[in-house]
Amino acid sequence: MNKIPKELSKDSNHKNSDRFGIMGGVFDPIHIGHLFTAEEARIRLKLSKVIFVPCLQPSHKRNDFVTDIKHRLEMTYRAIEDNPFFEVSEIEVNRPGPSYTIDTIKEFRKIYGWRTDIFFITGADAFLEIDSWYKKDELLKLCQFVAATRPGYDLDKLHDNFKNVLNIMEIPALAISSTDIRFRVKNNLSIKYIVLDVVKDYIYENRLYL
Ligand code: NAP
Repeated sequence: MNKIPKELSKDSNHKNSDRFGIMGGVFDPIHIGHLFTAEEARIRLKLSKVIFVPCLQPSHKRNDFVTDIKHRLEMTYRAIEDNPFFEVSEIEVNRPGPSYTIDTIKEFRKIYGWRTDIFFITGADAFLEIDSWYKKDELLKLCQFVAATRPGYDLDKLHDNFKNVLNIMEIPALAISSTDIRFRVKNNLSIKYIVLDVVKDYIYENRLYL
């Protein structure tokens, strides 16, 4: 399994990467849009790997119900299992309190130093709110960003404002959303082909989203 040990510094591969992606999200559940986004970013930006970082407590949704991290984490591990360039980090799972991206990037920077290019990959809708992110000005100096969006979404303005740090990627598969998948499960609609079978089976076995 492509799992990063809890103490990140024990991963021998780790320090050799000069350019890698951090895929941040709630992953409730992880779906093929996320996986496709990570793979596209890896290929287009020539990343040595992409590390999926499920967040414990989304800092901007403190009042929203989010599925227990143990399920979201397990689904993420299962989903990335067959891709040797994908890993999962429990860095946010093990850090109590709101999952601020700046804390995560700082922890990765401590391990990799400054000669490594780090790309934080997430949805464009999430990046659109960057002005409200915790310690945003400092965060923007710590890494580059990849905002994934479905085609046709106009992000030109965003690009102008953040052109030194932002990469925009159009991903057709992002028409899929975790919200829709939860709705489909609840309403007894099929989720085959929009999540991997290992994730689908896990959702049904654990009676999630009912
Ligand atoms: P969100 O607001 O729930 O998501 C916004 C949109 O982006 C949704 O359409 C979502 O689709 C999509 N999305 C989310 N993650 C994605 C990914 N990795 N790849 C492609 N699409 C993605 O965003 P969120 O998931 O809560 O947060 C995204 C990341 O930003 C997390 O790592 C979070 O911790 C970080 N963040 C940090 C701060 C902060 O530090 N203050 C504030 C906000 C967000 P799905 O629902 O299908 O995923």
